[in-house]
Amino acid sequence: MRFDEGAGLDLSEVSDQRGGGGIGGRVAIGGGGLGVLGLVVYFLLSQFGGVAPSGSGLSGLGSGEQTDNSSLSSECRTGADANRNRDCATVAVINSIQDYWAAEFARSGQTYRKATTNFFSGGVRTGCGNASSDVGPFYCPADSEVYIDLAFFQELRSRFGAQGGPFAEAYVLAHEYGHHVQNLNGTSDRVRTRSGPASDSVRLELQADCYAGVWANHATTTPTENGRPLVTDITQDDINRALDTAARIGDDYIQRELGGGQVDQSKFSHGSSKQREKWFTTGISTGDPARCDTFSTRDLG
Ligand SMILES: [Zn+2]
Repeated sequence: MRFDEGAGLDLSEVSDQRGGGGIGGRVAIGGGGLGVLGLVVYFLLSQFGGVAPSGSGLSGLGSGEQTDNSSLSSECRTGADANRNRDCATVAVINSIQDYWAAEFARSGQTYRKATTNFFSGGVRTGCGNASSDVGPFYCPADSEVYIDLAFFQELRSRFGAQGGPFAEAYVLAHEYGHHVQNLNGTSDRVRTRSGPASDSVRLELQADCYAGVWANHATTTPTENGRPLVTDITQDDINRALDTAARIGDDYIQRELGGGQVDQSKFSHGSSKQREKWFTTGISTGDPARCDTFSTRDLG
C-alpha cells in the first residue's frame, strides 16, 4: 500500500493521547487484569461499547487523556511521511476512509459526520466508559469516536500470528469506521441478539468487514481536497494480508488458538474466519455498500 507523496495529511481527524511520545505518558490502569481470554471477550464486545466498566479500580486514569498532536503534526505532513512512518500511515488511512464515506453519503443525499480516532496508550476514558488496551481497537457509539492503542498492531503479529503490514492495519481501522457508518445510518440499533452464529452481532460485525472492503475498493479512486487520491496503490499482497488478519480474528480461530481449543458457535459474536474473509472480499470486489446487507441474507457464508 502506497500513498501519494505530495498529498497533505489531515491531523484534525485524530487525537493523540499517548502522552508526549510515550515519555511518562503511559497510564497505569488497575483492576481488570484481563488475560488472553479477557482480551478476546472484550475485543469481541467492543462494538457495543461493552468495554471495561467505568468506575471501580480505574481511577488512575487521567494523565493520558490530554490531546497532544504536536509530535504527529511535525512528523506526518504528507503522503511521503505516511510511506515512511506507520503512525503517519494510520493518519493517512483514516483520512482516506472518511473521504470515501463522506463522498458516498453525499451521493445518496446524506451527510457524513466525521469521527475522530483517539490514539491512546495503556488506558483511556471514553463515552462508553474507561477502557484499557486489552480491549483492542473499538468504536464507541455513545461518543462516535474510534479508540486504538497502536501497540495492537504489534500484538496482531505476536499474539494472533498475523502477517500484518500497513493494509492489514488499514483493514482494522476501516472495520471500526464501518461501525461508525452503522451508527450514523441506524443499523447498530437493529442488534437484538448478541451471540450465536446467525446473531445480529455477527451480522453487524460481518457488515463492518464488508464496509472495510468497500472502502478498499474505492481507496485508490477517492480524491482528497487536492483532487488526487491519497492512496495510490493496493497490491494483491496487501489484500492477502488483510484477509490473513480477518482470518486471525474470526471467532472460531480465536476460540481454537487463543481460547482453549473448543469451538463453541453459540458464543460467536463476530463470525468465523471464513465469514470474515468472505464479507471483506464481497466489499472489496463489489465496492457497493448495498451488497453488504448481512441482516437480510440467509447465507452468511
Ligand atoms: Zn467490530
